[in-house]
Amino acid sequence: MNFEFHNPTRLIFGAGSLSKLGEVVAEHGKKALIVTGGGSVKRSGTFDRAVESLKDAGVLFAQCSGVEPNPRISTVVRGANIAREEGCDVIVALGGGSTMDAAKVMAAAVLYDGDPWNMIRHGQDQVYTPAKALPVITVPTLAATGSETNCGAVITNEETSVKSFVADKCFYPRVAIVDPELTLSVPKNQTAYGVCDLITHVTETYFNGIGGTPIQDRFAEGVILTAMEWGPKAIADGKNLEARTQVQWAALVALNGWLQVGTDYRMPVHMIEHTLSAHHDVAHGAGLSAINPSWMRFAAKSRPERFVQFAQRIFGIVPKAPDDMDCAMKGIDRFEDFLRSIDCPTSLSEIGIGDELLSRYADDTLLVAKDENGNLSGRPAMNRDDIIEMLRAAL
Ligand code: NAP
Ligand code: FE
Repeated sequence: MNFEFHNPTRLIFGAGSLSKLGEVVAEHGKKALIVTGGGSVKRSGTFDRAVESLKDAGVLFAQCSGVEPNPRISTVVRGANIAREEGCDVIVALGGGSTMDAAKVMAAAVLYDGDPWNMIRHGQDQVYTPAKALPVITVPTLAATGSETNCGAVITNEETSVKSFVADKCFYPRVAIVDPELTLSVPKNQTAYGVCDLITHVTETYFNGIGGTPIQDRFAEGVILTAMEWGPKAIADGKNLEARTQVQWAALVALNGWLQVGTDYRMPVHMIEHTLSAHHDVAHGAGLSAINPSWMRFAAKSRPERFVQFAQRIFGIVPKAPDDMDCAMKGIDRFEDFLRSIDCPTSLSEIGIGDELLSRYADDTLLVAKDENGNLSGRPAMNRDDIIEMLRAAL
């Protein structure tokens, strides 16, 4: 398909690059709001190093700490209020995807008098489409979401248990400082969930794109194979900087828009997972892992050739025909084995989810992600019963 690509985020990548934070922020403002999560950056010393760099560059700062995993709209409001009261003109997001996502929406909320939830998309609808935001500098401390160089953010409305996304141009960070040393302290489980998240960003495109995109397919396979090779090394030895670096680069390229061009992709697994984490506050990567194999088995029935290619190119399984379902299913089995090998859940029961609310998950997912026909957008599109069937198979 024809496409236009423009990712304006300046990227500074490599071990030690955190030391550039102060000079970079000084190019964009005089007083920064530093947004952080639940405390990992303070325990690891990253926060102190960031503050030192800002002080050296003469940048003033205020703080918004305590962004929770699966960040809440109330936290966005709190951060925007601090930024306004403190007169901040630039935002520094120092943390994982949750912190970066919350910081991006805060940056637009500061310049908007209405309810920031108005920015969050519900299917095709968005009450308010933001066009401006304070400049955001992202400093990821966890390799997973790719939020550091994309224009997306995912926010939960804790009052309604709805989790959905925004993706508008003003949310592109001005600069991403990506320093793999900052990820050395990420625990094994979060490292593994990050690997699953990044692979899922690629598989969503691979299986839900229109196809006929041979270069995008090869890029995608390269990222998946790299993550499957280096992810387990980073999990086995968290201090392995080489492994951390490869995984962080893989996470970034998985969702900075480049792999997705020309594919007209969809993200049904993400849309369903958002509902699960809205209700149960599970880690995003764990939720994806729990439903991935089940979704793949569901989708393979209508697009076997994509899954045959996956089985052949990722796992070297030789098909008997381009639509060899046996080969497609073996590829999915092998992918499930990989997820298990890195201790990621492959069923809903492993993340404490039973069958009580399956229809509610389907309804809530459709509320935020339905297409013009009322189905969950994807290839194949899924109606309410399809979502319930797929989730039941994941129990
Ligand atoms: P996260 O929710 O930001 O963080 C998960 C946990 O890891 C937190 O407890 C955090 O602790 C900890 N952590 C982070 N960095 C650490 C470090 N260096 N050392 C030790 N612990 C560390 O995880 P995430 O997977 O990056 O983000 C998930 C969120 O992003 C979800 O809401 C998901 O829906 C969203 N998402 C966004 C995009 C996008 O494109 N924008 C894509 C996919 C997913 P602290 O809180 O104490 O720091
Ligand atoms: Fe994700």
